[in-house]
Amino acid sequence: MKIGVPRALLFYHYFPLWKKFWSYLGMEVVVSPPTDKDILDLGVMAAEQETCLPVKVCYGHILTLAKNVDCLFVPRLISCQKDTYICPKFMGLPDMIKHSGYNLPQLITPTLNARERRNSWPHSLVRAARELGFSRRMAEAAWYQARQELSLYRKKLQQGHTPLDILFSRCQPDVASDHNLLLLGHPYNIFDEFVNMNLINQLYRRGYRVITPEMLPPRLIEQKAAKLPKHLFWSLGRLLVGTASHYLEEGSVSGIIHVVSFGCGPDSLVGELLERRAKKVSQMPFLLLTLDEHTGEGGLITRVEAFLDMIEWRHVS
Ligand code: SF4
Repeated sequence: MKIGVPRALLFYHYFPLWKKFWSYLGMEVVVSPPTDKDILDLGVMAAEQETCLPVKVCYGHILTLAKNVDCLFVPRLISCQKDTYICPKFMGLPDMIKHSGYNLPQLITPTLNARERRNSWPHSLVRAARELGFSRRMAEAAWYQARQELSLYRKKLQQGHTPLDILFSRCQPDVASDHNLLLLGHPYNIFDEFVNMNLINQLYRRGYRVITPEMLPPRLIEQKAAKLPKHLFWSLGRLLVGTASHYLEEGSVSGIIHVVSFGCGPDSLVGELLERRAKKVSQMPFLLLTLDEHTGEGGLITRVEAFLDMIEWRHVS
């Protein structure tokens, strides 16, 4: 039986977990191809116009997979860690897809909510597997294996690798230690090379090493994010603010690039916080890049090049 996993949204955070869980049960895990113009156009046509680019891209991936699989894995993500929420668009995604009017295979939509007293991630995944006919024993064993796989993946990320390095065997260039740039953004913006027009490779070509939030231990990020005067309850927002605080205090990066989606509510708040901190703490060069389906490659490359030139002039002077 083939289960489709869209290469979208939190794919870059959780793919090893999804893959191990379903493949341990004997399912064939089929991942949609990297985003391209056809996938984007499909998503833009299918999704509600008000949704953000990442959700439109996700629609494109789901529709691309639909013809080739027996079922589609579209979890209803509510919370990835205690005391935080993920964006409401993740919660509504299975319903939006279900009612999109497209002819789709069976949707597997377990509710994943780490805020519940008994974390619902394992229970919901085990229940989803049981609904497909697997025994409880098998499903629990699959969860155990998948959790191990995820912690292995996270350990590798914390050794200084990006998800692209680990999932697709890429590698960072060997550069001087004063050539580190902090790339902040939601994983679907910073690791989708079509959506961000190959931003990471552009930075590599200019001789920079790219640091991303996934490289820091979650506990350290939490400690930093906890210093905010008010509790920030967006999981990805805490990840970005905690990471930025750490590197601003350490001063081990030459600049910060923050990639956001046009019209993203959580990003508008977090972006403002990050920019103010960068100015207040260390006058760190900061570039905000906003993406939507109309963003042109030429404009984006020019802005990044100008930002890097500015960082280099600062070094010289
Ligand atoms: S956090 Fe922002 S970019 Fe991400 S799904 Fe929600 S609205 Fe879209």
